[in-house]
Amino acid sequence: MKTVGIVGLGLIGGSLGLELRSQRLRVLGVSRQEQVCEIALRRGIVDVASVNLSLLGEADVIFVCTPLHAIAAMVEKLVPYLSPGTIITDVGSVKAPVLREVMPLWPHFVGGHPMTGTAQQGVNAAQSGLFVNTPYVITPVEETPEDAVEEVGEIARSLGCQLYHCSPEKHDRAVAWISHLPLFVSAALLETCLGETDGEVLQLAQRFASSGFRDTSRVGGGNPVLGEAIAQYNREELLRSLYAYRHSLDGLINTIEQENWQQLNQQLQINEIERSKFL
Ligand code: NAP
Repeated sequence: MKTVGIVGLGLIGGSLGLELRSQRLRVLGVSRQEQVCEIALRRGIVDVASVNLSLLGEADVIFVCTPLHAIAAMVEKLVPYLSPGTIITDVGSVKAPVLREVMPLWPHFVGGHPMTGTAQQGVNAAQSGLFVNTPYVITPVEETPEDAVEEVGEIARSLGCQLYHCSPEKHDRAVAWISHLPLFVSAALLETCLGETDGEVLQLAQRFASSGFRDTSRVGGGNPVLGEAIAQYNREELLRSLYAYRHSLDGLINTIEQENWQQLNQQLQINEIERSKFL
């Protein structure tokens, strides 16, 4: 039976544990906190839990599910416990800087990014079915061993994910458009609404908000630690997408100021047709 290790039993790590155990894989989990280990055992996220990384010496594949800034440091701490063939992968939302830091530390490393999530964090946010029918991107570099890519891909497929491969750089630019830009557009939307100075209007807006606002504000109202990490780690691609967005927004404002309804309608028609290609 394959043994999988997970470090960082939060939303993604915990959900991964639930899913892998349901596939009858043996799951070993490491958290920094005894209390999280107890919860993970009680919730069936792991078979064995510990605060000691040495537990993962037995694992065939290790998923590092910590925040972005802690991934490379975690790999460095894991190295003394590993066999030469142990595969390490991560789930970080940005890939190029992680790969640059980690590849010199461990050659059997495969960058990965499950394109799923919720606005919650921590072990109690872990849920079954989080990965089903979602994209899972693997970002091999020249030095990545082929068998390690295969192994991680097989696990991703077993979660019910659609598997994709691309370079870390292409990944970071693509996710800037569909994940990181929406996060900051949504954050700006919330901030702008909160700027309403008439208290009564603000309260009415908060009461009237329904599905449209729920959809458009969800990603901007999520985990601030994740948002900050994304801005730091994918700064260049995020800024590129935000400048392009500002340009589009100025164009829309201009069209509406000029009451050019035909142009506005044409643009909205294009959007209506093209949106399905992203979903
Ligand atoms: P999370 O719920 O906060 O879980 C991260 C876990 O990592 C924490 O629960 C904690 O687990 C551990 N951790 C926190 N700080 C640490 C540190 N300094 N050193 C070592 N361990 C630390 O966050 P998450 O949403 O699962 O995100 C984890 C990773 O998944 C991130 O790299 C993120 O980019 C990526 N990701 C997130 C999403 C999303 O939508 N949330 C989607 C795809 C990928 P213990 O308390 O058990 O130690």
